[in-house]
Amino acid sequence: MNSAYVYLQLYKLFDNVTPVSVDCGQLCGKACCKGEDSGMFLFPGEKAVFSILNPDWIKIEQTDFTYKYNGKTCSVPLAMCSGECNRYERPLACRIFPLTPYINKNGRLEIITDPRGKGICPMAKAFFIDDFDPVFVKNIKKAFTLLCKNKRFYAFMQAYSAHLDEFNRFYK
Ligand code: SF4
Ligand code: SF4
Repeated sequence: MNSAYVYLQLYKLFDNVTPVSVDCGQLCGKACCKGEDSGMFLFPGEKAVFSILNPDWIKIEQTDFTYKYNGKTCSVPLAMCSGECNRYERPLACRIFPLTPYINKNGRLEIITDPRGKGICPMAKAFFIDDFDPVFVKNIKKAFTLLCKNKRFYAFMQAYSAHLDEFNRFYK
């Protein structure tokens, strides 16, 4: 699979579709881009996009967050930025924030509010899924339904969902 090609196609789903129809950055001064250590996980295979685009506003580091696939331990890269980017090149995690994919106890894909965003984002704190633009939610579901057909991606999603559970416990 040419993973860069897949991600570049999926990015287009979010070029003009945003969480709500207004500029939510005006609510919060773009809080999700302003952290001291702003960083977002790159999904499996997504790093290939940045090998091609090679933007100077992103730095990619390995993390100690791992998942198992085919008997191997795979580590998940983190993309760090300085709070500015080219909107058309931003990673998938930025495009879907403050929502995120999640594999529930029945092994099914759900789209949920990202528990890691609850301390940062006013929408993550106060909104229910139905409060977001339905096209935004539908496009996230579409993108991750496709990605989850890949066995390695699904293995990542199981570890990622357990990671989100840790945050969910904190915010309950
Ligand atoms: S923190 Fe939330 S409300 Fe603010 S810009 Fe980011 S997604 Fe929008
Ligand atoms: S890459 Fe862009 S959208 Fe993502 S956190 Fe950095 S400035 Fe914000």
